[in-house]
Formats: sequence, C-alpha cells, structure tokens
Amino acid sequence: MSTPTTQEVTALFQQTYGQAPAVIARAPGRVEFIGNHTDYNGGAVLGAAIDRYVWVAAAGNSSGRLRLCSATGPAVLELPADPGTRITGSDSWANYPLGVWRSLRDLNLPRPAGFDLLVVSDLPAGAGLSSSAALELSTTLALLALVGATIEPGPLAALGRHAENKYVGVPCGILDQGTSAHGQAGHLVHIDCRGPAFTVVPFPPSAHLWIFNTREKHALIDGLYATRHQECLDAAKTLGVALLADLTPAQLAEKNGSSGGLALPAALAQRAKHIVEEHARVHDTVAALQRGDLAAVGRLLTASHRSSQNLFENSTPALDTLVNLLEPHPAVLGARLTGGGFGGAVMALTKDTFTAADVAEIARLYAVQHGRTPEMIHLQSADGARVIWRA
Ligand code: ADP
Ligand code: MG
Repeated sequence: MSTPTTQEVTALFQQTYGQAPAVIARAPGRVEFIGNHTDYNGGAVLGAAIDRYVWVAAAGNSSGRLRLCSATGPAVLELPADPGTRITGSDSWANYPLGVWRSLRDLNLPRPAGFDLLVVSDLPAGAGLSSSAALELSTTLALLALVGATIEPGPLAALGRHAENKYVGVPCGILDQGTSAHGQAGHLVHIDCRGPAFTVVPFPPSAHLWIFNTREKHALIDGLYATRHQECLDAAKTLGVALLADLTPAQLAEKNGSSGGLALPAALAQRAKHIVEEHARVHDTVAALQRGDLAAVGRLLTASHRSSQNLFENSTPALDTLVNLLEPHPAVLGARLTGGGFGGAVMALTKDTFTAADVAEIARLYAVQHGRTPEMIHLQSADGARVIWRA
C-alpha cells in the first residue's frame, strides 16, 4: 500500500467497525545498518528507523471483545477477551497484537476491556525490515492510549520483544524493537546490546539507503544461525571470555597466538575475528558519523560485508554479486548484507546523486547473473514509534 494519510486510516476504520477510531499510532520498520551477529556476542549494533511504517488505529468497544483487522486481510477477526492458545493459519498475524495484549497484563500495565483494532502498513512484511516489531509497538501505543496511559521508548521496546518472544515464539534480540522505539529522523540508533543501552548518532539527510532484497532464503537458515551462535560461544569459551565482544582485535590476536595452547580451530578463529572486528567497526562507524565522514562510513560497511563473506561465511553468491556491482559505483559509499545473512537483502549507503536509473541498472546487471530482479526500496532515517492522532 502507498503511504496512507490519517484521514484514509480513519475512513477505513469507520468502514470496518462502524465507529470512529479514538487513536492512531505509527511505528517505523528498521534496517541493521552495521553490527552483524554482534548482538548475542555482547557487542553493539547500529540500526536505522526507516520511513516505512505500520499504523494501528484503535477504539474501545462495549462488548468486551477483541476485534482485529489488517488492511492486507479480508475479514475482521473477533475473539473473546482471553483467546487461549496461539492462532495458526491465515489469521496467525493476530498473534502479534494479541501477544501485546497479553504482555500488557504480564507487565502489570493497564489495558482496555475490549477493543477494535485496524492495521495499515506501507512496510513490506517478511522483507527483513521488521514489520513485526513495528506492529507490536504501534499496537502497544494504541492500546495504552485507549486507557489514557503512555510508555517510554525503553519499556516499549522491551514489551514488544516480550510479546514476540513469548506469544509469537520468535527468539529475536532487541535490535528490531529498540530501533523502532528509539528512532529519530536524521539519526541512527546505537544499541549496546548488553544493557541494552540506546543512544542516537547523527545521520545526515543527504545520506540515502537503498535495499536490494534478493528474496532468497537458505533452506537451512534456522540451523545455520544456531551453528554460528554455538561457534561464537565455543570460541569465547576457548579464549576464556564470557562473550566475544569482551575482546579487542589486538587482544584476540594475542590470545589466539601459538603460545598458551589457546589457538582456535580455523573455522572458530574466523568467526571470532569477524565478531571482534565487527564490534570495532560499529565503534569506528559512530566516530566517522560524529565527524561527518560518510566516505569512511561507507568503507566500513563494505568491509563488514567482506568479513561476512570471507570470515563468518553467512553471505551468498547473490548478496556478493549485489555488493560487487554496487561497490565501484561513484554515487555508492558502501554496501553490505543486512540482517542475519544466508539470503535476504543488501543495504547500500548512497549519495543523493544515486538515481532511480542507477538502481535499475544495478538490478538489470544482477538479473543477468541471477535470473530475477531484486526488490528495491529507497529509505531514509525516520522518527520512532509514537501516537500520531487522537480523537
Ligand atoms: P519482518 O519483521 O522482517 O517483516 P517477520 O516474519 O518477523 O518479518 O514478521 C512478518 C509478520 O508480521 C507477517 O507474517 C504478519 O504475521 C505480521 N505483519 C506484518 N505486517 C502486517 C500487516 N500490515 N498486517 C498484518 N500482519 C502483519
Ligand atoms: Mg520480524
């Protein structure tokens, strides 16, 4: 759907439920800017809240029932106030708002007795831009607003994550909800995953982000993530640290030297080097952003990709092709796989001279090699989740 106006969301709500909404909340999607697999290693990650959103409009109802509808789906789903087990099949999207509803109770926050809720979005679902977190956060803000309550970004992100972990069953970290909650236009969100602690870093409006989504997904993706996670834990244990981000690149090189019997097997040494250097790259990216050096930021992004490709081995030939095509372009500052890897998307940081024709040419050259055109999305940094309208 194209970007809806408040009037359009209100009209659709009226048409669906026969009453006007009391509140509309909006939450952005996000991209992982840099910080690849650093989260579970105790490192840092930089996320960008993006100008694609999920809107949730809501009103209380007197029936004490939960009525849910997404503009992407045909019908209103009506449930009793305690709907029991997880929903399966075509209505399974409702587990996200229902998970929020239950999480409000888990966290002793107020909630309305019954509600009518409508979801509208211009954020593609399942494209790695975290529509799920945007849905959780906009639902949370809307339901709380119905009972006159508000929530700070930190607890908002924690509640959304709780809902996704416990009620949807996805063991996500804090990047998705943290970035959507703390986003600020003209900034990136820095997350120290150990706190988690959130800060924002300036990101100039002249910087543009392009997503090239290959739409490929490795068949063994869950197993591959789990293997990488275990390899990182094993490497940390052998090196005598709790988590790999406890080490600087110099300390890793020293510890993994030939003396002392600590030398890691080759594959584990590569995984450890990727994580430790990636954590340092996040730090270096923040420093480069603070001095306004976008060229250096771009070089760090491409270095992150090459490390994924060669050391962490979570890239694919399709992702490598995109980075290889993007890297030499004069209007491209840098490019890397974004997200867990083993498929998914490449993010490019570009100057404003990178035109739609340039994007189309990259896509054409990619299709020559891989047989199909990637999905291409232009993004800029955006504000975090908030209530945008009240009756
Ligand atoms: P991502 O978060 O990267 O987009 P996920 O698989 O985590 O991918 O979440 C996508 C799921 O979130 C969808 O399958 C759907 O259940 C839910 N969802 C996202 N956007 C909407 C929407 N506009 N309407 C209903 N459900 C949505
Ligand atoms: Mg998600």
